[in-house]
Amino acid sequence: MKSKVILLRYGEIFLKGRNKSYFEKLLIDNIKAKLQGIDCEFVRTQNRYYIENYDESLTDEIVRRMKQVFGLHSLSVATKVETDYQALNEVALEYAPDTKATFRITVNRADKSLDKNSAQIGADVGAYVLKRREGYKVDLHKPQIEIKIDIREKGYSYVFRDIELCAQGMPVGCSGKGLLLLSGGFDSPVAGYRMARRGMQICAIHYHSFPYTSEQAKQKVVDLAEVLTEYAGDIKLFVVPFTEIQFAIHEKCRADYMITIMRRIMIDIAKRVAEKNGCGALITGESLGQVASQTLQSLTVTNDAVSGLPVFRPLIGMDKYEIMKTAEEIGTYKLSELPYQDCCTVFLPKNPVIKPSLEIAKKEQAKIDNLESLVNSAIENIEVIELKQKN
Ligand code: ATP
Ligand code: MG
Repeated sequence: MKSKVILLRYGEIFLKGRNKSYFEKLLIDNIKAKLQGIDCEFVRTQNRYYIENYDESLTDEIVRRMKQVFGLHSLSVATKVETDYQALNEVALEYAPDTKATFRITVNRADKSLDKNSAQIGADVGAYVLKRREGYKVDLHKPQIEIKIDIREKGYSYVFRDIELCAQGMPVGCSGKGLLLLSGGFDSPVAGYRMARRGMQICAIHYHSFPYTSEQAKQKVVDLAEVLTEYAGDIKLFVVPFTEIQFAIHEKCRADYMITIMRRIMIDIAKRVAEKNGCGALITGESLGQVASQTLQSLTVTNDAVSGLPVFRPLIGMDKYEIMKTAEEIGTYKLSELPYQDCCTVFLPKNPVIKPSLEIAKKEQAKIDNLESLVNSAIENIEVIELKQKN
């Protein structure tokens, strides 16, 4: 008997204390949701999980999926074999590439019924490998290759080598629910990813200015949200018709304050939608100083439009380059790059104010005398799109 298994390790920090079983249940549920459609067995042991009894041609696919589960720290593809000294020799040899290298065998023995201890087993397997690999040299302290043998109680062992880092973070769902203001740009999807990584379940809201922004622009946002579901699980996306509000701003407010006012209205609508849907925070992709609407003064004036709900801006201290790099890694870059116009670029002034005054912003906004009814009508006409987790 010999088969491939995937060994999963979780981060330890969040599993301490009284909440351990709560966190762990969420993590296991999230792992199982990611494994949907794959015939396999999930085994929980102390401090580790194993995925076993699956079709070995699916190893890479399972590894790919597990790397998207927040709360997992690392994984190893291992070989499960019965605890028989000759079998261990042979499997260990499979993990020893035929090159010049220093190596060590590290044995961890839970099965105390064996007649040899960990050090003896390690030395014996090491001797077996050494005889069959020219150019190998034992180095117990800083080996280039470390082959690990984990001997378990029930007569079987796991042999593995590489430890691959997973996405880390906290299991989605353990930090409440946040409403992500999702545009088609590079930043907001990354912001959603960051907060999901801290355990937030994600809902998303998008402002759409049809027909000034196209169906494709909306589809792009749906596609971006769908990529996020790979990490964050199911996402409810609210698409808000924003054209009439933009017209009103355009018609009534000072040109250089249009963006400021638009952002205040966006965040106000988001707050109302968040409260109706049990979201305890708003999330945006803002980064300090990136554009005129993200200076300290602009953020202050935007923030004034929302009270009682925190606005999380996980990218606030990140450079554009770092954000783009994350976008690339998580798979949103290629979508964000598509050129469809966003509502922010429709009817907007060339020279937006960089240091808006709150007083002027409020005065200009008050010129839209039917704002409350425009906002209510936009909320009533929200299109809700339920996106299921994509594996
Ligand atoms: P992004 O790359 O996320 O679009 P950006 O650099 O283009 O960001 P802005 O356009 O000023 O910056 O938007 C700042 C934030 O406001 C975005 O990160 C997003 O959270 C939110 N936002 C902007 N436009 C929209 C929209 N049409 N729908 C929903 N949220 C939006
Ligand atoms: Mg944008």
